[in-house]
Amino acid sequence: MTVESRVQVPFVDLRAQIDSIRGDLTTAIDRVVDQGDFILGESVESFEREMASYCDVGFAVGVDSGTSGLELALLAYDIGPGDEVITVANTFIATVLAISATGATPILVDMDEETYGMDVEQLERVIGPDTKAIIPVHLYGHPVDMGPVLTLAKEHNLRVIEDASQAHGARYEGARVGSLGDAAVFSLYPAKNLGAFGDAGIVVTDDADVAERLRLLRNYGSPQKYVHEVRGFNRRLDTIQAAVLRVKLPHLDDWNAKRRELANRYCEKLSELGDRVKVPHTAPYAEPVYHLFVIRVPERDDLARHLADEGVSTQVHYPIPVHLQAAYAGLGHTEGSFPLSERAAKEILSLPIYPELDIDQVDRIVEATGRILEETED
Ligand SMILES: *Cc1c(COP(=O)(O)O)cnc(C)c1O
Repeated sequence: MTVESRVQVPFVDLRAQIDSIRGDLTTAIDRVVDQGDFILGESVESFEREMASYCDVGFAVGVDSGTSGLELALLAYDIGPGDEVITVANTFIATVLAISATGATPILVDMDEETYGMDVEQLERVIGPDTKAIIPVHLYGHPVDMGPVLTLAKEHNLRVIEDASQAHGARYEGARVGSLGDAAVFSLYPAKNLGAFGDAGIVVTDDADVAERLRLLRNYGSPQKYVHEVRGFNRRLDTIQAAVLRVKLPHLDDWNAKRRELANRYCEKLSELGDRVKVPHTAPYAEPVYHLFVIRVPERDDLARHLADEGVSTQVHYPIPVHLQAAYAGLGHTEGSFPLSERAAKEILSLPIYPELDIDQVDRIVEATGRILEETED
């Protein structure tokens, strides 16, 4: 291989995005430092208003992480010990950790073969007398088929809490994710489509009572200083993080459009390699935001290793499904419980995607992929 053909592509590059708006970011941070309103300051309230409006909902409550947001949202609906909450085996573990943190029992279903998200057809089978809520996860930035989820939830009087941590700005039948369920949670971890300079998260909802409960729960259960109505937590969104997020939010749609453009290019070029590489499927109802660009190849580990040799960083989301993690051995599942998630875990590979990646780099990654697959064929 010649030096010229080497591509050096990190998996994500936060620095490029920061550099493009660095002046605005430092001005916003300086302003918080000057005002000194570090806890529940002006920027928190402003960001909550702006995020609620972006998601077309009435209320948003800033918290200290996505995991916290999911836990507090469940608690705000009085979900806890003895209750069951349904989610999917192919997700980031945090979705399930939040359920168990409340004392409720996580109930898993398998993924959908095409979108890698929740298979909504399996929901009805696992709904029982103790089921209280469903957490659909808009995995990789592709929305779950929410129509059937909402219909079932209505029939069985269940709450729907969207885990939108990978789908900021995505749309389902034209509506923003976050506006579809009873409440929705966005992680604002630095590498998400909208990310802070540290841990952060936000819960959005149209339900004024739930928003009020969330405000109590994140702030020691305290409606005013030294009055404590419920046993709350210290789970607030920092003012400095909110200031950073306020600068970034107006760019989100452009950044997502860039991700879609890159994803389209990947799909177009990868399809020229034939059917050895399965590219992401976009459901007719979906406008995805490609938090991740996930391909599927039987010889995944070989491909990942050779791409790394050529300077292209990849990751696997996720190599071990939730039900096979030691942390959830207690749920009693085994190999074979969720076969689609298990098989996908062995074959999926996330290629670099971030708004500042250029089309040229995409072409070179695809070219390297084609070459590697050809060489490993024999
Ligand atoms: C990132 C993520 C979370 C957790 O968010 P944190 O802010 O890291 O706590 C939850 N669910 C999904 C699907 C995620 O991708």
